[in-house]
Amino acid sequence: MPVDTDVEKLIAALAEAVISHADELTALDRAIGDGDHGLNMRRGFEAVLNQLPSLAGQPLPEALKAVGMTLVMTVGGASGPLYGTLFLQLGKELPAGANRQQVCTALAAALTALKLRGKSERGQKTMIDALAPPLEAFQQGKDPVAAALNAAEATIPMQAQRGRAAFLGVRSIGHMDPGARSSALLIAAAAAVAAQQP
Ligand code: ADP
Ligand code: MG
Repeated sequence: MPVDTDVEKLIAALAEAVISHADELTALDRAIGDGDHGLNMRRGFEAVLNQLPSLAGQPLPEALKAVGMTLVMTVGGASGPLYGTLFLQLGKELPAGANRQQVCTALAAALTALKLRGKSERGQKTMIDALAPPLEAFQQGKDPVAAALNAAEATIPMQAQRGRAAFLGVRSIGHMDPGARSSALLIAAAAAVAAQQP
């Protein structure tokens, strides 16, 4: 996300990515959760889209904070407060007109806040497993999208240790984590918009 990232394009792309994959996310959550992840995320990002006209005029950090607050209030489930924290903290950490290094630092701080909020770490079959690898790739100048999509796939053989899926024990093995998939979709959408920036 370079300095002059088009706020409106970015937020619209994030919302579109989630909303257009809501059924897939719900199907994934039906396998190892309660089948509402797509519904939760769609509700949240539809609320974000409703605010797009007012968000579009704001600096990126302010817009991200507003998105975070809306997600906390509307997504529900475990993922609402977690995604809300991610966006809110990213908005708080990101300086106006951030350079690449500052974007990396802000993303890392937002991920740390999410981990604290979820009392979770990498390797527990959650959204964190699809957020940490693309951040590392971005830091190393590698492709964050491939890293995110592959990392979501890599949750399939994991046994869940957080969230509802953890109650399934070994039966959580063999399914992609729904939150990891939604995170990978968000990363892919953000990267696509960033790639279009001049
Ligand atoms: P719920 O589980 O309350 O129905 P969702 O279905 O919307 O909420 O979201 C489930 C996703 O949330 C999981 O796939 C997982 O990625 C993520 N998740 C759940 N608990 C945690 C946690 N403690 N830390 C990180 N991510 C979590
Ligand atoms: Mg669920």
